[in-house]
Amino acid sequence: MHLFPLFADLSGRRVLIVGGGTVAERKAALLLGAGAQVDVVAAELTSLFGRWIEAGKVQRRADTFGEEQLDACWLAVAATNDRALNARVAAAATARRIFVNVVDDPPLCTFQVPSIVDRSPLMIAVSTGGAAPMLARLARERIETLFDHSWGTLAALLERARARIRARYAALPARRRFYETLLRGPVMRLAAAQRFEEAQAALDAELNGFASTGDKSQHASLEAQPLPEHGSVTLIGAGPGDPGLITLNALRALNEADVILHDRLVSAEVLDLARRDAERIDVGKIVGKHHTPQARINELMLAEARKGRRVVRVKGGDAFIFGRGGEEIEYLREHGIRYSIVPGITAAIACAAYAGIPLTHRDHAQSVRFATAHRRRSEGDADALTAHGETLSVYMGVAEAEPLRERLLAEGWPAATPFAIVENGTRPEQRVVLGTLAELVERVQMHRVHAPALLIVGAVAALAAQNHWFAAAPLDR
Ligand code: SAH
Repeated sequence: MHLFPLFADLSGRRVLIVGGGTVAERKAALLLGAGAQVDVVAAELTSLFGRWIEAGKVQRRADTFGEEQLDACWLAVAATNDRALNARVAAAATARRIFVNVVDDPPLCTFQVPSIVDRSPLMIAVSTGGAAPMLARLARERIETLFDHSWGTLAALLERARARIRARYAALPARRRFYETLLRGPVMRLAAAQRFEEAQAALDAELNGFASTGDKSQHASLEAQPLPEHGSVTLIGAGPGDPGLITLNALRALNEADVILHDRLVSAEVLDLARRDAERIDVGKIVGKHHTPQARINELMLAEARKGRRVVRVKGGDAFIFGRGGEEIEYLREHGIRYSIVPGITAAIACAAYAGIPLTHRDHAQSVRFATAHRRRSEGDADALTAHGETLSVYMGVAEAEPLRERLLAEGWPAATPFAIVENGTRPEQRVVLGTLAELVERVQMHRVHAPALLIVGAVAALAAQNHWFAAAPLDR
C-alpha cells in the first residue's frame, strides 16, 4: 500500500468517533488538539469523555451508530471492539466518500493516523502504510531523540517572522542559507536555553541587521552572502562508560558537533554515537600523561569556537564533579564564547548502581559525600574526609590507598568499616572488590586494582555482596 501523506485542517470541522473506550479517547485527544469538533457515539464512555462532554468540547450524538450521523462529518473513526460494527461504520463512511480510520484494521481504513513527533507547530509524522506499525513507532522514537523541544519554540518564532523573512530573502537559495545558519546560531541556542524573549530579539537583530543596509541593489548583493556563523561550546558529561547512560541532550549535542574534544575517560562506544564527520580530538593525548596545562585545552576550545564551529567538550561522568568544568566555563565566559552544559551521571552514582550499593539507606547512611584523594599540594590536611552515618565515595583514590586508609582510621572510622572498590564501573570488564578498611591496601594490591576505580566506604558497601547484578561477581577475599 502506498499512501499519500496529508496534513488536514480540521479546525471547527466535525469528526465522528464511534466508540467510547480508551482507544477512542486517544484519537479524540488528537482531534481536539487539532481543533476538530468531535461527535462521539457509544453506549459507554470513559470518565475523560464525560469531562470533555461536560466542558462542551465533545458532543454525544447517540448510544448506537446510525449512518445519518455521518452526514455532517468530514472524517470518521471507528474505535469499538466490535469488528462487524467497525466494518459497518467503514462501509457507510466510504459510501459517502468520507475518509474513515478503523483502529487496528488497515484493510478497512481509507486513512491512517501516523506516529507523530509533536514539536508544534513543527509536526513530524511517520507511517509504514500499515505494513509494520511497530517499525513506525521505533522510527518515531529515534526521531524523538533528534529533535528537542526548542524546535517547537523556534518554529513558533519563525511563523511570526515569516513575512519579514520572505521579504528580506526573496531568492530561495538565500532564504535557505538564512534558515540553515539560524539553526546553528544564537536564536536556536537561546530557544534551547528557554530564553524566549532573547531568542526573539536575536531573530529581530538578524533580520534588522540586513534591513538597515539601505537601498535595494545593496540588499540584493548581501543576499548572496551567508550570515556570519557563531561558534559555541557545549560541555557534556558522558557518564562513566556505558553508552546507554548518556542523556538525550548529550546525544543531540554529539549529533550536531563539528569538533569533539574528549578526555581519555570517555569511552569509544560513546564517541561512536557522534556525528560521523565531526572531528575528534583526544585532549588526553595532547596533554600527555602528566598534568598538562589546562590552559592548552582552553586555548584549543577557544580557537575552534572562534572559527564558528560547534565545539562539544566531552568529559567522563559529570563535568562539574572533579571534572574541571567550572574552570572551563569561567574561561569561556571571560572570552565571550557562548556555552551550555549537559549534566552526566557521575562515577559515584553509576558505580554504586552497577555494584548494587545504595548510597543512602534508611538504616545505614543518611548522607553521601563525593570526595577525592587527590589534593592540591598547597592544601593542608585540615578537612576531614568523613562523618559517621555517611557514605563516602572517593574519586582517584586507589593509587593512594595507603595514605587514604591512614587518614580514614585517624579520623575515627572503625577498621571494620566495609569498603567496595568498583573498577571500570558500568563497562563489561567491571570488577568489584569488597573488604573492610583494615584490608584495603592488601586487597588493592592482591587484585591489582587500576584506574579508573572508585572507592565507596561505609556500611552500605557490604550490600554489594547480596545485591550484585552486573558483570562479574564481587571479589570478597
Ligand atoms: N568527572 C568524573 C570524574 C573524573 S575524576 C565523574 O563525574 O565521574 C576521575 C576519577 O573518576 C577516576 O579516578 C575514578 O575514581 C572515577 N571514575 C571515572 N569513571 C569511572 C569508572 N567507569 N569506574 C570507576 N571509577 C570511575
